[in-house]
Amino acid sequence: MNFEYFMPTRILVGKNIIVNNYNEFKSFGKKAYIITGRNSSKINGSLDDVVKALEFANIEYVIFSEVEENPSLETIEKAAEIGKREKVDFIIGIGGGSPIDASKVIAIMIKNKELTKDTILQSGKLCALDVIAVPTTSGTGTETTQYAIVTDNKNKTKVNFGQEVFPKIAFLDETYTQHMNLKTTLNTAIDSLSHIVEGYLNVNANIITDALAEKSIKLWSECIEELISGEISCEIRQKLMIASTMAGIIIAQTGTSLPHGMGYPLTYFKNIPHGLANGCLYIEYLKVFKNRERVENIYKLLGLKSHSELENLLSKFTKLDIEISEEEIKIYTDAMWENKAKLKNHPENISYEELYNIYYRSLK
Ligand code: NAP
Ligand code: FE
Repeated sequence: MNFEYFMPTRILVGKNIIVNNYNEFKSFGKKAYIITGRNSSKINGSLDDVVKALEFANIEYVIFSEVEENPSLETIEKAAEIGKREKVDFIIGIGGGSPIDASKVIAIMIKNKELTKDTILQSGKLCALDVIAVPTTSGTGTETTQYAIVTDNKNKTKVNFGQEVFPKIAFLDETYTQHMNLKTTLNTAIDSLSHIVEGYLNVNANIITDALAEKSIKLWSECIEELISGEISCEIRQKLMIASTMAGIIIAQTGTSLPHGMGYPLTYFKNIPHGLANGCLYIEYLKVFKNRERVENIYKLLGLKSHSELENLLSKFTKLDIEISEEEIKIYTDAMWENKAKLKNHPENISYEELYNIYYRSLK
């Protein structure tokens, strides 16, 4: 056995966890930069709690609330300019994966003042301001990963920004997810499931990530009934949040694999939300995976008996309504095939035809 495991994020879990722990913010500096999406954090209580905690701790703050879904480098650069001008000491990212990912890139850009949206993706290893994460979706696990996925409009794609910024603290309070609509709840839940599965069927999987995968997939399976019914209790919301954070810890070690690489053009060109973009490829992805013992173990942990039971389950969660041509499928397959970095975590040989067929059979 030969592997490395690294997870430096402190994870604090529970109701009112932010306000109860306002002292935690004091060691990060005198002025915080709060980064959010456009609306949800103002409604679900997360922004109020952060502001309250900062006021208790006597810390000044500035708020940037313009991060869009699949954050663009343009928005990130704009936020970084404000952060530099305001001389902020640390960053608090509140929201789904988009604002928290944006926070990580902004943290790098403020610390390295010469960087622009055109140079950030090509830069060597850089330091960042400290980032604290407050997830309000249960999907990306970004609160416990070093990654940030940004939209690069120049190259018409979504990419990982290439730096490593683990949040210093992740505050998990499932209350913020209580009123999330069912569509976003399902899309994000499918994202976390896909992180667990891609971490498990991965060239970098090890005994620790396997243990995390087996436990978190079990936790996720306990949520299936309520995800199907659409009536989701607070207890299940907490399980979804913890499973998602555990999934983040897994992919921080392993990286993701084929469905994530293949899903990005579906988000960029077809506007399909991230979790759904991966999830819609899963039935076909699991069919081509050759190590059946590993795949069967996933079914078992999910409480399913066979691939057809999985098909039945996923088809409830991943309904798609898009127009796509064979030409487009070929372009996406070519891009995936030529980008060896996107194939390297898949532990088996895969052919061009198999990749093409995953797209074709999933989307046509
Ligand atoms: P998101 O793009 O952050 O947000 C999706 C939508 O959900 C937005 O409209 C947002 O509203 C809303 N929302 C967020 N929290 C809510 C709540 N508690 N109640 C109601 N609505 C809420 O979605 P996401 O799926 O969490 O993040 C996706 C992004 O993360 C993608 O860019 C993906 O590539 C990336 N990702 C990153 C990692 C990583 O390790 N870094 C892993 C997987 C995916 P507002 O905009 O108003 O806030
Ligand atoms: Fe993801």
